[in-house]
This record gives sequence, structure tokens and C-alpha cells, in this order.
Amino acid sequence: MRGGRRLREAPGTGGRLVLLLAVLLGSALAGCGSNTGPGKSAEEKGTPEFRYAFDAERAFAYLEKQVSFGPRDPGSDGHRRCLEWMKREAAKTADRVFTQSFTRRYGGKDITFTNVFAVYPGASERIVILCAHWDTRPFADEETDPARAAKPIPGANDGASGVAALLELGHLFQAQKPPVTVVLIFFDGEDFGKDVKDMLLGSTEFARQWRTVLKDVGQDVEYGILLDMVGAKDLRIPREVNSQQAAPWLMDAIYRHAREAGLEKVFPDEPGPQILDDHIPLIRAGIPTVDLISFDYAYWHTLDDTPDKCSPESLKAVGEVVARTIYADIRRPR
Ligand SMILES: [Zn+2]
Repeated sequence: MRGGRRLREAPGTGGRLVLLLAVLLGSALAGCGSNTGPGKSAEEKGTPEFRYAFDAERAFAYLEKQVSFGPRDPGSDGHRRCLEWMKREAAKTADRVFTQSFTRRYGGKDITFTNVFAVYPGASERIVILCAHWDTRPFADEETDPARAAKPIPGANDGASGVAALLELGHLFQAQKPPVTVVLIFFDGEDFGKDVKDMLLGSTEFARQWRTVLKDVGQDVEYGILLDMVGAKDLRIPREVNSQQAAPWLMDAIYRHAREAGLEKVFPDEPGPQILDDHIPLIRAGIPTVDLISFDYAYWHTLDDTPDKCSPESLKAVGEVVARTIYADIRRPR
């Protein structure tokens, strides 16, 4: 993932792409309070009532388990082991788990990337996508010492946190049928390359052919929510700029549910940074998707991105807001 901080520090290829995407996605954002989106708002069919049972401790154990495999950079042993574990864990709650794999050649080696899908049938065949990347960065390029910078990161927050929240939400969807069919997607290759063209690999591959990939699930996708770096202590998720431009009606719903849940400290209703992340390929493929991301993380892309920097309460805050949004059955304006 590339964000505003990096853009200001080093406006390289990534910076230009972020700017290009901003132009493609609409005009520049000038302040985005809760009611400043374009006129259309989402319709809510259901009530946000659900038997809420997001187990923060189990979610945190999912985070720790992933880190216990070691770095999960594509091609590594940790990557292989984590993939098998993740498929097994998702299958315990999901109606169906399937994968999408593709191979790319890097440094004279073929590397296989795998997106994992877990389907939770709802009261309707309309689909909501909840996604996170499960791979971790092969190098700690925010480290100043070159020896440390060459090593792969543990990715407790940047990688494991989103997956942990999604796996725990799976228990919720199993216990109480959601109003929409929920598809969890665990994207591979988000954080792979030095260069932007070698990042967002799994989401780009999915976005290119999503109708085919989801042919047995359905085609009527309402929206997507991406979770990235949602495990840090003192979590703070303002409105990410590209998300706000792509789906202001969904952002309004999410921030309203956060307020109703008393979680406005975690979800401050104010403009955030502009981030290039897995939501961008989905938006460009016609799936309005928002990125819930806390980019204020001192250990980002360092060897210190470890579980002690994260907390069960953060995972729970995000899980609760996502669950409220799902059970409220938000519909995109058409
Ligand atoms: Zn990252």
C-alpha cells in the first residue's frame, strides 16, 4: 500500500499513479464532512440489529497465529503455511472456500500468488465483498539500516490484522445469516514489489476477471470494504480520500454506524490521507470499494511490525462497525 505520507516524501512513480487515479476517480476532494458528498445517499433496508458476538480475543489469536508462521512474502515457507491454515480456518465457518491462483516470474523464479475466497450465503443473492491482503512485504524498506531493510517484515498490522478481523467476522456470518451474501476475499501480492506495477497483484488479477471468478456466487455486487492495517493500538481511521470519492454514501453509513457504536475516536469523521491500495483496482472495475485504513503507524514496513504493537480492542472496533454496516443492508444508489 502506498499512501499520502510517502507521496509527500518521495513523489516517484507511485505518487504519480496516485495522482492519476485521483483525476480518474473525480475531482480533488476539498473537505469531506459527513454530509458533503454528492447528493445521493445510501438506502438502508434492514436494521442494524444483530446478535453481536465479535470475539476480540479469538480475532487477536488469528493475528498472532499468522505472525507465528514467520514473514508471509510470496514464495516463502511462511506464505505457503499461512495459505493452508487460512483456507482451513475459513472453511470452518464459510459455506464454500475457493481460490484463484496466478504465476509471475521474478528474479528468474516463478512465484505463485493465491487469492482466497470464502462465501457466506445471505438472505439475498446480492453480494458484499469484504477484503484484506494476506501477504507481507518482502523487505522492510522503511528501516534505515540497509541490513535490516533487506529483511521481510513480520506484518502483524500490515497483513495479519485485516485477515484476523475477516476470519472472526466469518463466525458472525455463520451464526446469523446476513441480509446479503458476503464474500470474504484474502488478496495476495498486495505488498510484493519495490515498484507500484508489482503491487496490488492479487486485487488487480481479481478485478480483471471478477465476473468469471464469482460466476457461481453471483454478479450483483453492492459494494466492497477493504481492511488494511486495522490492528494497531490507538487505531485511528479517518475518511480515506479515494474511498470518499468512490462511495461517499457508503462512507457516510460507516461513519454513522461508528458514531452510533460510540467508536468515533477510532473512526474520526474527518478527511484522511489518499492511499493507493487494493480498493483501487476494484473501483476501476466498477465495484465501489472503500479502504478502512489507519496509516498513522510508526512501525509501517519495518521489522518492528509485531503483535505487541496491536490490540484485540482495535480489531473489535473495526469488526463491529463493519458488522453493523453489513446487517444494515446498505444499498448503493443506482
Ligand atoms: Zn504494506
